[in-house]
Amino acid sequence: MTFYMPVRIFEEKECVKNHAREIGAFGKRALIVTGKSSAFSNGSFDDVADALKQEGAEYKVFSEVEENPSTDTVLNAGKRFSDENIDFVIGIGGGSPMDAAKAIALVLKHPEADLEYLYDASKASDALPVICIPTTCGTGSEVTGVSVLTRHDKKTKLSMVHKVFPALALIDGKYLKSASKTLIVNSAVDALSHIYESILNAKATDYVWMAAEAGMKAWAQVRDVLAGKREAGEEDFALLMRASAFAGMSIAQSGTSLPHALSYFLTYDLGLPHGRAVGYFLPGFLSAAPGEERNKLLKLSGFSDLSEFTAFLKKVFGEMNIPENELERAFETIKNNQAKMKSASFPVDDEVLKGVVFNQW
Ligand code: NAP
Ligand code: FE
Repeated sequence: MTFYMPVRIFEEKECVKNHAREIGAFGKRALIVTGKSSAFSNGSFDDVADALKQEGAEYKVFSEVEENPSTDTVLNAGKRFSDENIDFVIGIGGGSPMDAAKAIALVLKHPEADLEYLYDASKASDALPVICIPTTCGTGSEVTGVSVLTRHDKKTKLSMVHKVFPALALIDGKYLKSASKTLIVNSAVDALSHIYESILNAKATDYVWMAAEAGMKAWAQVRDVLAGKREAGEEDFALLMRASAFAGMSIAQSGTSLPHALSYFLTYDLGLPHGRAVGYFLPGFLSAAPGEERNKLLKLSGFSDLSEFTAFLKKVFGEMNIPENELERAFETIKNNQAKMKSASFPVDDEVLKGVVFNQW
């Protein structure tokens, strides 16, 4: 068994302000990577800029990361800032800017990197140091080495092969205050699926369980907020972020499984947000899993059984109406992907996969 989690984590109120010194320790020139606008309105960018100023560090900003960032975006950013003597990269935002920050940090370290480099495991994986500051509560990218990128040439998304763990993760629930309910629900379902997929996984260990259980404990406490039964308070925002970080630690060990692999087609073709696309496949995936394990997971995360969980998804997502041809494309591709077919903790053949994919609810 192995457990590798090299990220230094601080999770607290005013986290960025409190740890300006730890940020400044990475050098004098930072590249801040954000999405197009949210970081500038939820206070996270200002907090980081203030911390850098306090430490006497300069910064450049790349604020063009789109949702589901593409390989083109990260390669272009790498080129644009390669002559700027950047010491470290700060990703602020949801999974998209944080994932992009990791890939950009790799490209800045290896300016010769091209598309092939990102997917060539024989190439060096070292990158500039990365700091991640999450503003959504789903991907856990702040504690994983994973960078999921859109491959327009393959019409889907594919994680780059190089693992770039952030050196530092600064987690503060206050950045969620400006997030819409939809964004919070989508990203919280993503976090829960990280937990389920990392446990119902061929690579699951007791160490994965450790992180997953902590994640479910936090997640179960915000279930009613997500279901719209009560308003979120400060503590709930902190719990949402914590659940996401523990879920990230779980997938950092064992990786994801079928729902994530299947979801990428729905996001690419239909523009479905990541958490919503993944969530669509969770009832089918859970129903294919051994009953005892399924029920244990559901109970720990606050659901009495699979039908209650499915009813929860129906309530928070509404009608899904995924076109049949879309599901066919996902099914046909994943059934030929041996690594994915073997990623679950239980045997998956074409029939089982069909049950996961075509489980309309
Ligand atoms: P996201 O794609 O980063 O952001 C979604 C939207 O939310 C954007 O419009 C963003 O605006 C906005 N937003 C972010 N924070 C906000 C806030 N606090 N208030 C208001 N709006 C806010 O969403 P995500 O679900 O966190 O990330 C999804 C990506 O992460 C996918 O590409 C997925 O594949 C990847 N992922 C990575 C891992 C991993 O381990 N690395 C795991 C799972 C998923 P702006 O664009 O203006 O910022
Ligand atoms: Fe995910």
